[in-house]
Parts: sequence; C-alpha cells; structure tokens
Amino acid sequence: MRWWSTASIRLRLTAQYALVLSLMLIVYAAATYVAVRHEFYERLEDEARHGVDTSMRDLEVDAQLREILVVLAGGLPLVVALAGAGGYMLARRALAPIDDLASEARRITADRLHDRLSVPNDKDEIGRLAAVINDTFARLESSFAQLRRFTADASHELRTPLAVIRGIGEVGLRETRTPAEYKDAIGSMLEEVDRLTRLVDTLLRLSYGDAGTIRLSRGPLDLGQLTREVTSSLAILAEERNQRLAVDAADGVSVTADRLVLREAIANVVDNAIKYSPQASTIDVRVRPGNGRASVSVADQGSGIAPEHRERIFDRFFRVDEGRSRDAGGAGLGLAIARWAVEVNGGRISVEPGAKGGSIFRIVLPLAAPPPGSQHDHAIHGSGGGES
Ligand code: ADP
Repeated sequence: MRWWSTASIRLRLTAQYALVLSLMLIVYAAATYVAVRHEFYERLEDEARHGVDTSMRDLEVDAQLREILVVLAGGLPLVVALAGAGGYMLARRALAPIDDLASEARRITADRLHDRLSVPNDKDEIGRLAAVINDTFARLESSFAQLRRFTADASHELRTPLAVIRGIGEVGLRETRTPAEYKDAIGSMLEEVDRLTRLVDTLLRLSYGDAGTIRLSRGPLDLGQLTREVTSSLAILAEERNQRLAVDAADGVSVTADRLVLREAIANVVDNAIKYSPQASTIDVRVRPGNGRASVSVADQGSGIAPEHRERIFDRFFRVDEGRSRDAGGAGLGLAIARWAVEVNGGRISVEPGAKGGSIFRIVLPLAAPPPGSQHDHAIHGSGGGES
C-alpha cells in the first residue's frame, strides 16, 4: 500500500472514482439481471399454467438470459475503462487551479514577497486556500521588512561609535601629542567602546528574547521595594539635573516576576523620565495595587509624546527626536527592552499624556496571590492603596 500513499491525488481520485462507479454499475447490472430473469420465469410459469408447452421456450429463455449475462459482464471492462478516463479528466479539471496556485506561489521569492496569489473566487475551497497562503505571505513580508529594518538600524547604530573611534585615532596620530593628550584620546575611545559594548549587549539580549532562549527565574517579589531600589540607584542622575524623584510606593504589593528583568524595565522608564524632562522638575513614581493588578507609574513634566508617536516609541530604534536622543546616548532600544521585559513577566506597558503635560508611563502586572492566612491585604489597604 506504499505506492497508494505516494501516488498523486489525481491518480488516487481517478482510481476511487472508477472503483465507486464500477461497483455501482455491477450492483445495477446484477439487479437488472435478477429482475429480467424473474420476469422471464414468471412468464414461462404463466404460459405453463395456461396449458402451453414450454419445453422449447425454457431453452430459449436460458439462451436469452445467458446472452444478457455475457453482454453485461463483457461490457464491464469497457465501463471501468470509461469510468477511469472520465474520472481522470474530472480530477484534472478539479485540480488544475491547485497547479496554477503552485506555479504562482513558486514565483514569489524573498524579494517578491509583496506579490500575492490571485483569488478568482474567495468562496470556494481553492479561493480559501489562496487567501490563507496570501495571509502567510503578508505575515512573512512584514517579518522580513522588520528584520531588514532591524539589521539596517543596528548597522547604522554600530557605525556611529566606530566612526568616532576612528576619528579620534586619526586625529591623535596626525602629530606628536603630550602624554595627557594621548590619555584623553584613549579615554574618549574607551567611552565609545563602552557605548558599543552596551549596544551589542542590548541587541544580543533582544535577539535572545525573540528566540525565547533567555531563562527567567520568576518568583514572588515586592514591587514597591524593587521600585525604591531602582529609583535610589538612579537618584544621582536626577540630582545632576537638579530634579526631584518623588517615590510613593504602597507596601506589600507582590508580583511574580524575574527580579533582574523587571528591574531593567523600571530602570529604563525612570531613566527616560530623567533624560527627557527639564532641569529642576519633579518625577513622580507610584506603586499601587488594584483590581488584581499591580502598577508602577512614572509621571514626568517633560514635553510629552505626540499621539502619533505613542505606540511607536516601544519599537526598536525609534527616537522621537533623532539628534537629541543620540546626543543623550540613547539608541532607541530602552523602551523596546522595557516592553519585552514587562511582557515576558505577564504584564503590559503603556504611555499616556500627563494631566499637566509630560507623560505617564505605566507598567501593569498581575498581583501575586497572597499566601493563605497572610496579613497581605491589610498591609495593602493600610498604606492607602488604590489604582493611581
Ligand atoms: P532612547 O535610548 O532614545 O531613550 P527609548 O527606547 O528609551 O530610547 O525611547 C524611545 C524614544 O521615546 C526616545 O528617543 C524619546 O524620543 C521618547 N521618550 C521616551 N521616554 C520619554 C519621556 N519620558 N518623555 C518624552 N519622550 C520620551
């Protein structure tokens, strides 16, 4: 039966069609033969009952019946052959659109992913198949475009620090310099190398994240405590800009997450708030439980983010203001990392405009279930919680 499973659909359909048609004809011929035979013998009996001598008629009827049987049996191979030929033609007609579809699909290569298969009738089976294949092409096209953009953006980002390092080296070598000047040049080069290393690390982490090869160690953690830790480690940056980092974190807000990964998400958002809001402004960081969720919100008094940029700022390499962000050292990956870090921990990150200008970034995570019999709920309510 191996040949059967490897035979073409056309051949299998033909064989099935011929078999079914032949069986039906055999049954039909047998039934006809039995009916005719019955009729002949009934007539003979009738004649015998009316006193007619049927001895010769008996032989005649037998000969006629044999003739009918020979015609019926002899015609069978012809019928099978005709059924096969008819089946083959029908199968060919039915399958022709699939052949057309296959040759159209074969023409769509990686650089012609914008092409689509023609869908003459989207209501029939072939039309539905073509629509599904077209959807797959559309998804592939968008993944390819994303990949190309990512590669181009990554190369562009890597080129800038490399060009700076080269420039510093060339200027340094143009004439003899004092040891202090060489030290200065090497220091600047190392700064750029640091920037490159950070960028490559981030890119690697994003691609490991995409491939799902980062192993998370998720466990219960106190979101308020983690947020306080992050803000105190970034306080020095806010101080340099004379900003006030106001932290209001409810106690006992427990979530299940990977500490290091979630820490990075909060740090990137707070770091952005410091970078993108004016000197001597206030940044409000709040941690609140509510409706089975925990949220960290970071509100700044910066220039805010235009509605058309709000979704895109989480895209890789997206910067609202290319020049200013690059000067501040950002490659446009901070929020992409933050979104990945929040989502792998089962949460969501979003941004909305602040009531008095600026932006509010909000990270929302599912609350961890309190251990049975714990005083968790009291601790939360005691600290005056409520979704901010
Ligand atoms: P970058 O490394 O450039 O900071 P991010 O992914 O962290 O990259 O942010 C993407 C862009 O979103 C930034 O370049 C900036 O234009 C904008 N952005 C992020 N956070 C803020 C904020 N708090 N206020 C205004 N703009 C912001």
